[in-house]
Amino acid sequence: MTPSAKAALALLEKVVARLSNAESRSGQADMVVHVADALTSGDSIVVQAGTGTGKTLGYLVPILAAGRTAVVATYTKALQDQLASVDLPLLERACEHDDDLAFSWAILKGRNNYLCRQRVSEIETGHDQLPLNDVPRDVARDVRRLVEWANETTTGEISDVPFPIGDSAWRKVSLGSDECPGKAKCEFGETCFTEVARDKARSANVIVVNFTLYGLDLEQSREFLPPHDVVVFDEVHELEDVISETASVTLTGRMIATAAESARAALTRQKLPNALVKTAKELDEVLGRYAAQRLSQPLPADVHDTLHTADEQCRMILDELEALVNETPEQLRARSAIGRMGEALAKVLAASSNMVVFVTEVRGAARLTAAPKRVDHVLAEVWDDTTAILTSATIPPGLPRRLGLGLSDDDIVRVASPFDYKKQSLLYLADDLPLPNASDRAPKLQARIRELISFSGGSALVLFTSWSVLRDTADALDGTLGDGITLYRQDDMPKKALLEAFRDDHSSCLFATRGFFQGVDVPGDALRLVIIDKVPFPALNDPLLDARRDEAGDSAFMTIDVPMAAASLAQAAGRLIRTAADHGVVAVLDPRLGKKRYKNAVLFGVSHMPETTRLVEVQEFFDKRATSRPS
Ligand code: SF4
Repeated sequence: MTPSAKAALALLEKVVARLSNAESRSGQADMVVHVADALTSGDSIVVQAGTGTGKTLGYLVPILAAGRTAVVATYTKALQDQLASVDLPLLERACEHDDDLAFSWAILKGRNNYLCRQRVSEIETGHDQLPLNDVPRDVARDVRRLVEWANETTTGEISDVPFPIGDSAWRKVSLGSDECPGKAKCEFGETCFTEVARDKARSANVIVVNFTLYGLDLEQSREFLPPHDVVVFDEVHELEDVISETASVTLTGRMIATAAESARAALTRQKLPNALVKTAKELDEVLGRYAAQRLSQPLPADVHDTLHTADEQCRMILDELEALVNETPEQLRARSAIGRMGEALAKVLAASSNMVVFVTEVRGAARLTAAPKRVDHVLAEVWDDTTAILTSATIPPGLPRRLGLGLSDDDIVRVASPFDYKKQSLLYLADDLPLPNASDRAPKLQARIRELISFSGGSALVLFTSWSVLRDTADALDGTLGDGITLYRQDDMPKKALLEAFRDDHSSCLFATRGFFQGVDVPGDALRLVIIDKVPFPALNDPLLDARRDEAGDSAFMTIDVPMAAASLAQAAGRLIRTAADHGVVAVLDPRLGKKRYKNAVLFGVSHMPETTRLVEVQEFFDKRATSRPS
């Protein structure tokens, strides 16, 4: 064992001893050794760490033991909160009396998560472009409270606001990075909440961010995040989609009109901003002709010409703004907004063959998106100069290759989960139900779900791939599941409240869609059965996926659709066993798994669970646990 691995294991021991439920986990220790060795060699590493491994300590401990500066990027807010409220404070306490190990950490979010002092000042002094008497009364009331709070808060961060606020109110007192002229040009730059948070992050050894902020930092030539020699991507199975999004450009007529409005407020001569507003309207109309279509490249002439006109107009407005001598905050913001809009337009006009350009319709408005087919080139500079630790409970096949890491699936380090899946779980595959599109499926699916819930006595998370099937099934089963079994639907209340209600009521059932395939952590008896209505293949009409499928040719189904379905299924199944005391059944009600050649590939993430197609075994599983449970 290398000295760095030994040092990391010694720290792990110290940290684990501080836990109230101290238990050594061999998978976690394995991960610590692998990460420590990667940090020594400088080689990036991919670690699949099953549920319960304790992967956050698995990477944080070796990073601290090696005295490295790291950015930890997570996908979900839940994981960010866990790092901030559990793991990092625990490590801080474990290291505080040891000068060699003492460290500091910070959470950093995107600019629009913090109050903007410039905006607050404009509202306070009545110099706001959109006076409060022009907005709905409840929004104006929230804005006033936020302005008062700006004098009390030390963070200015949205999650610290001590009263409920709506998005509209928050937008009035915050700025996106597109509009902020930057610290140097802002009167409040020195006390700006975002800048203070960035300064704090600059001196921290561990900075926690989300994937989106990391992706945006890559897009902004790595100017936002402080330099770091290690990056951790936790929940890395989501990284490809997020980086694709942050490297994408989205344009709507409304967005161009908003940039034009900021120019209107900043310039006395209105001719150019007015012309840009007109072009924005034309773009809406032109894009409407291509709703739900992928655009050819070069772009169709009407789309190209309208974008080109908008680009020219942005350039001319920018020239006027740059010629101003004494710049007001409005003018600085307009420069920033028009400048960014010009960059977006230029990016779409110059879209390379790696970009897919398509039009979607969102709330009745056409939206143009240019998205990269592959993200390997976006991430290449990260792999070149940073040691990357990529981890997740499920690493979909082919992910290291698609991310451009230069590693194959065989290089993935798989560390053991501490759970005994053979004893704790069962995977039931219903091979006797009608196919998902069969006309006689609905009543049989509903009957099977009712039967399974009767075996478990409730405590079921029932996951659907479509809202319509969820609604039909919930309507048919509500009130028929047995005494005392409440049926909650995803749209009954906000996710947090819904999960609390489900967690507190040990025999309830929760019917939900893809948003609940991950981020649901319900340990114990409240969740004993996870039902998945069908294999969660990705949507067929997704233009970006379609372009990737075209590129993959004949192998598209096996290299794109199957790994995505497998990853989703593994995530959904992962809701079941959260502690060593949990037990339960995952039921997949899709007969295709019994017959199709892709069965093993789809089930790769749940292959550690014993499998059956016999319903009676599900009943026996629950009966056995019911009798062995203490009364
Ligand atoms: S630097 Fe930007 S975000 Fe900060 S106060 Fe100034 S304008 Fe607002």
